[in-house]
Amino acid sequence: MHGIIATWRMAKEGIEQGFEQLNQNGKASDAIETAIKAVEDFPYYKSVGYGGLPNEDQVVELDAGYMDGDTFDVGAICAIKDFANPISIAKKLSEEKVNNILVSYGAEKYAREHHFEEKEMLTDRAKAFYRKKKKELEQQAQELKPYDGHDTVGMVCLDENGTVVAGTSTSGLFMKKPGRVGDSPFVGSGFYADSEVGGATATGLGEDLMKGCISYEIVRLMKEGLTPQEACEKAVNDLDASLKKRRTVAGDLSVVAMNKKGEFGCATNIDGFSFSVATSDAEPTVYLVTRQGDGHCTFEVASKEWLDEYMRVRMAPVEE
Ligand code: ASP
Repeated sequence: MHGIIATWRMAKEGIEQGFEQLNQNGKASDAIETAIKAVEDFPYYKSVGYGGLPNEDQVVELDAGYMDGDTFDVGAICAIKDFANPISIAKKLSEEKVNNILVSYGAEKYAREHHFEEKEMLTDRAKAFYRKKKKELEQQAQELKPYDGHDTVGMVCLDENGTVVAGTSTSGLFMKKPGRVGDSPFVGSGFYADSEVGGATATGLGEDLMKGCISYEIVRLMKEGLTPQEACEKAVNDLDASLKKRRTVAGDLSVVAMNKKGEFGCATNIDGFSFSVATSDAEPTVYLVTRQGDGHCTFEVASKEWLDEYMRVRMAPVEE
């Protein structure tokens, strides 16, 4: 059995490429890197890699994390500027004995020394979104939240050898403070993998996802015997309830998981969450998730119309 699951529809083309490698007996570590790089390289996704939206100083700061579920090797970078593929740097860092998580200048120095591709990551399109948002923010005071279409790609991948890996890549929240880091590069919050159990990854408001160490929690629940779907729902619903009890509101929390058998699940506390998945039993597919009143999440295959409209919106000119 092999499989790959990812947050959001934007991962579809990436998981198609990664899945191809898995079908040819490729390693999960290679397939996930291929898949996440494809998302990072696509200029019309505003929340990951090239084309990612900037912070409030109009600088694109990128975060990425990677975990190998066989060895528990972890690598991550936070707030790195102008490197094409953060996931590859995070993965490389996971191979080091120590110094596995590097931020900003230190991450850039490491990436340069290891000859990772340098690239100006702020696109003209991202500058247009920045100008537009700046105008809106001046007109009305707004709280920090993941602005529309601003989503992390998180993936879990299982190969035929039974290795489970997890990875994330993001430009974080649009208009964040310089140096702000969310859940995505933090093991246990943004991602977690244990080849004896499975893996999980998250997207949404990092400040809140971290409060529940949500990816670790999902894997822990799967280890206790819950299915991926049960584990995702319990983790999201418990954290959502705890946050509301203590703080009145809960930020956006969305997750996906896959266990070592290739079974998968998802959960969310918002409308509009989607995910992409492929397994030995099923071709790459995008699902749209609906949260029911009781907190149970159901999902259905995205229609061709929905998929076309998604791309049309992503590629439409920015109206300033
Ligand atoms: N979780 C990411 C962060 O807080 C953002 C997202 O997934 O939309 O940086």
